[in-house]
Amino acid sequence: MRTFEFSRTKTAGDAVVMATAQPEAKFIAGGTNLVDLMRINVETPAQVIDINALPLKGVSALPGGGVRIGALARMSEVAEHPLVVNGFPVLSQALLLSASPQLRNKASIGGNLLQRTRCPYFRDVALPCNKREPGSGCSAIGGENRMQAILGTSEACIATYAGDMAVAMSALDAVIRIRGPKGDRTVNLTDFHLLPGNTPNIETVLQHGELILAVDLPAAPHAARSLYLKVRDRASYEFALTSAAVGMNVVAGQITSARVALGGVGTKPWRSSEAEVALVGQPATEETFVRAARAALQSAKPQNQNAFKIPLAQRTLVKALRQLAGVTA
Ligand SMILES: Cc1cc2nc3c(=O)[nH]c(=O)nc-3n(C[C@H](O)[C@H](O)[C@H](O)COP(=O)(O)OP(=O)(O)OC[C@H]3O[C@@H](n4cnc5c(N)ncnc54)[C@H](O)[C@@H]3O)c2cc1C
Ligand code: SF4
Repeated sequence: MRTFEFSRTKTAGDAVVMATAQPEAKFIAGGTNLVDLMRINVETPAQVIDINALPLKGVSALPGGGVRIGALARMSEVAEHPLVVNGFPVLSQALLLSASPQLRNKASIGGNLLQRTRCPYFRDVALPCNKREPGSGCSAIGGENRMQAILGTSEACIATYAGDMAVAMSALDAVIRIRGPKGDRTVNLTDFHLLPGNTPNIETVLQHGELILAVDLPAAPHAARSLYLKVRDRASYEFALTSAAVGMNVVAGQITSARVALGGVGTKPWRSSEAEVALVGQPATEETFVRAARAALQSAKPQNQNAFKIPLAQRTLVKALRQLAGVTA
């Protein structure tokens, strides 16, 4: 591991100034992703700035029924908070289906949004990887690609966005609050993560020195009636093969509003407007759900080992919608 300077700060403003002054600085919250990657020399910051003393913890109510989640709130605390459990069940469920209890006690909301891919070639500095070393090539294309993405890929990178929480937040129209050297700004979660294109090394719109302060979730009927379903190779402590975050409001058997996001299949948390269009205004039936699932995977481009993800993601989405609507197959 490269030697680095370790600093602490108690204010968000100081954290931003310190990080802006050192182009190779990194914030550290729970450290469950950053330290992991520093140990294997994938992340090599010159300075690590501990932000855990900043007043960015907790979950609070917003006017109108929404909630604000501090960037330093822990995954476990957010999963169990009554405002989240009652108003945004999809988020509570996604968090509880993530990682392990020990990790959830340590890992923060801000750090979760910025977790890096689990692509094995990204984590092996001996092998080419455009995301880690731009221009070196992509070892996953033509290599081991069973776990890789089928939506949003490019010729430079096919790495799956591995997280669960941001998939749920994507279906909840979450807004990220950011402080940077030029002041404060907000970014919709659906615009926060970037497609790989020719620059897979640039993963989000966050600029160097910018600090995530909080995530806001607006209240909505489809947020209160929402669900997360995760399919994986083993029942716990595993990333998704496929997952579905769904929210739906049904009045007299008709779907009046819907939100759909998929995990395990996209290069970013995959909000599916195609599925939402196929749902809204239709009866909440199995036929409608199957049509929506087909629409969601319409543009999928599998590799030689992961075509199974297309029917699996479709079935995951249909099952999630069916469970939410209380429809039996
Ligand atoms: C074995 C294992 C299994 C896992 N399984 C899952 C899973 O099933 N589902 C899932 O969703 N996740 C899973 N994870 C990922 C886990 O959720 C993340 O590691 C964790 O959420 C990262 O949070 P952290 O606070 O530890 O981040 P850190 O490691 O402290 O930081 C991660 C990154 O975020 C930056 N950062 C942190 N906070 C801020 C901030 N406020 N502003 C700006 N930048 C910031 C850091 O500089 C760093 O680049 C797993 C992790 C492990 C190790
Ligand atoms: S898929 Fe992306 S992260 Fe994986 S080897 Fe290719 S470029 Fe690297």
